[in-house]
Amino acid sequence: MDERLFYTESQVTRPARLNCQFCRTVDEYQLRWLVRKKKDRLPSGADERDRAKFAKAQSYMVLLDDKAQCKQPRCRRTFDISGIKTTAFL
Ligand SMILES: [Zn+2]
Repeated sequence: MDERLFYTESQVTRPARLNCQFCRTVDEYQLRWLVRKKKDRLPSGADERDRAKFAKAQSYMVLLDDKAQCKQPRCRRTFDISGIKTTAFL
């Protein structure tokens, strides 16, 4: 069974402070996250192995964005998002 079936997926936007690698300006950016919320019960058709995996499964979210556009009007360059955790348990 695909582990994705254990979760209900949704998207949220959360602010994060990022540092542009070109102009070194720190600003707040709205980043998109994919939220995988564990379902209340195991989906039908699950076998013993799925049951064990489901018991250990936890709700979590993963960062969808990997780039951001600098907010500095003089820069405006697209930089790679780094220095923040890209997965978080809920
Ligand atoms: Zn910049």
